[in-house]
Amino acid sequence: MQGKMKAVVFYEPLVMKNEEVDIPQIADNEVLVRVKAVGICGSDVSYYYGHSPLDTPDGKGPLFLGHEASGVIAEVGGIPAKLGLFQEGDRVTINPVQQCNACPACMRGEFNVCPHCEVIGVSVNGCFAEYVKVKYTHAYKIPDEVSFESAALSEPLACATHGIFDLDIKLGQTVVVYGLGGIGLMMVQLAKASGAGKVIAIGVRDYGIEKALAVGADDAINVRDKNSKYYTDDTAAKIKEFNGGELAPRCIVPTSNIAALQDALNVTGPCSTVTYFGLPSPEDRLQIDVLGAIQSERTIRFAWLAPGVWDNVSHAVASGQVDLSQIITNRFTLDRTEEGIRYMKESKDDKIKGLVIVD
Ligand SMILES: [Zn+2]
Ligand SMILES: [Zn+2]
Repeated sequence: MQGKMKAVVFYEPLVMKNEEVDIPQIADNEVLVRVKAVGICGSDVSYYYGHSPLDTPDGKGPLFLGHEASGVIAEVGGIPAKLGLFQEGDRVTINPVQQCNACPACMRGEFNVCPHCEVIGVSVNGCFAEYVKVKYTHAYKIPDEVSFESAALSEPLACATHGIFDLDIKLGQTVVVYGLGGIGLMMVQLAKASGAGKVIAIGVRDYGIEKALAVGADDAINVRDKNSKYYTDDTAAKIKEFNGGELAPRCIVPTSNIAALQDALNVTGPCSTVTYFGLPSPEDRLQIDVLGAIQSERTIRFAWLAPGVWDNVSHAVASGQVDLSQIITNRFTLDRTEEGIRYMKESKDDKIKGLVIVD
């Protein structure tokens, strides 16, 4: 498609500009998506403030950020057209992690560790724009009953789902969700939908805790705010109180705060599984009592990205097993993307997840 579009160009930390640029030209193996809604991810915030480099050759812009998106098909490349896979107007979500499909990791289906991934909004132009080009293998049609706003959160929900699958919840088990941002609130619902008998939510702000209780958590703990009615300075004792005298058999930790992962080892008991899904700093280390861990046969897992779970995600949202509407708290127009990123980082207001609505 020829023509111009609006895009938000990230040049370097703290420098972002609203510009008119050419609509991207698609190759035979791509589709063009007219963007409708884009999630503001913690990693977008991190790139904007220069806390982490982009995955471009020199780690720098110019690049359009934004990798959590939904939209409609605006143009279909030669290969998907021949296969009859897409029509203009199809509603889709985007899997931004476009693996190479040819390396040893991809041969094994370990797409999340493919070293040749092109990541939309991280290594190639992303979704803070009116149009984005996507490999046809990474645009997935969404059910009619799923809104563009919810579909935009398919990528973080897919990551949360992969983490929950790694947690291997057995029917009736008590699951601790340690960290109550957007991903944590998704995990509360996913744990319940996956058979947890009880979900105990642990957070640092009552706002997140109240949200967790609203989306299905049974009990809650605030580990920071001494004025909170949920406050405790002894998480293990409180977990035992909530869990019939025992520590928890499962705990998932969706936060970059490594202290939460450390404490996850205190709130879980023998033969437990702890799964970490966060973005710690490169210096962070975990202290483990190795003898105690082996004698109690602990499992600690680390979940990264979202291989192979997108179909589950689509059905979980369409069926209402996961309600994302409670997680979306702030909306910004495309022109106000930079303001939105700054707001999500700097504002002290209660908030969980921001979306950019492209219209
Ligand atoms: Zn993200
Ligand atoms: Zn690969």
